[in-house]
Amino acid sequence: MTLTDILAELVAIPSLPGTPNDAITDAICAHLDRPGVTLHRLPTPEGRWNILASIGPTDVPGIMLSGHGDVVSAEGQQWSSDPFRLTAQGDRLVGRGTSDMKGFLAVMLHLVPDLLAMDLQRPVHLAISCDEEIGCQGVPHLIARLPDLIAPPLACIVGEPSDMAPVLAHKGKQTVEVTFAGRPGHSSDPARGQNAIYAAARFALRVEEMARLLREEGPFDDSFDPPCSTLQAGVIAGGTAVNIIPDRATVLIEARGIPDHPPEAVITDILADFPTGAAHRVLAAYPALRKAADPSLAHRLANRSGRQVVQAVSYGTEAGLFAAAGIPSVICGPGRIERAHRADEFIRADELNLCRKVLREEIVAMCGDVDAMLNSPVKPMI
Ligand SMILES: [Zn+2]
Repeated sequence: MTLTDILAELVAIPSLPGTPNDAITDAICAHLDRPGVTLHRLPTPEGRWNILASIGPTDVPGIMLSGHGDVVSAEGQQWSSDPFRLTAQGDRLVGRGTSDMKGFLAVMLHLVPDLLAMDLQRPVHLAISCDEEIGCQGVPHLIARLPDLIAPPLACIVGEPSDMAPVLAHKGKQTVEVTFAGRPGHSSDPARGQNAIYAAARFALRVEEMARLLREEGPFDDSFDPPCSTLQAGVIAGGTAVNIIPDRATVLIEARGIPDHPPEAVITDILADFPTGAAHRVLAAYPALRKAADPSLAHRLANRSGRQVVQAVSYGTEAGLFAAAGIPSVICGPGRIERAHRADEFIRADELNLCRKVLREEIVAMCGDVDAMLNSPVKPMI
């Protein structure tokens, strides 16, 4: 099968997060279930599947390639073709997930026969997660199983769309729902009740104030734009009718933290600052990706792709979770993040081919046999 055929097959499966993912799992595993591949379908508590496939010896450290199999919905978007049918428009391959990130998955799967033909001295692991698009909910269950299944990987390449520029860092994020309880009553005598909307509104203004303090006083990390942790209220809701004193109001807030200032700390600060009868619930969270101590992988990938190393990006990925588990991680994948989650998301064949070339060269250099390493066209910059 060609790379484009594999991508078309994956795009045709609308693998929305938070729904059963047997179909996409079966399709991916069909490419992996062959002699020489150690294949695990790993269940999550929600009844969905992560996949871990290893080629080469699993008892020595190797390299991990990571991607998520879920895609965001196309509902409410104006597509010029069926989002779940890969469609060529000029040099664009249009379809949901082409950039984010079934293009990378297709490259991974297309490389498998090639990897099997190599005499790998170190393993290549393919880690494919579920439920990434609803706050990286699937991958922690995969990461928790790794110590039982493989030697700790030397590095992980997370193939989120970066136009094949290696990315060193991103912020962490926590999304929290804060609920305010009031005391209901008739609007004819507001003083006899307790209006939950006022409490929520005061809280929202406090969020604004704290966001300003973060902006003005830091802490700062100049790799990021903006160079500080951020906080904002994104949704506010409460009340049922204009003549009833509202007894409930909720505010959704989101904190994004630089690596030295985790989002949990920002959230803890704002909640500690506002103790009156509020309950909170974490809806989603992932840690920041901190720059790896050893930047050599990123520099090698940049050499191979002809791109510059990027210090930090504004979006979040599973790389923060892999890094927190002790696996040095870098983001490097085909396509562009600006196309993700939009109508007419696309990728180009030359982008997929560049990704394939870069990954293959890196794998030969890190995991290949000695002859292949000596013949590798790009020397590792260690
Ligand atoms: Zn993604």
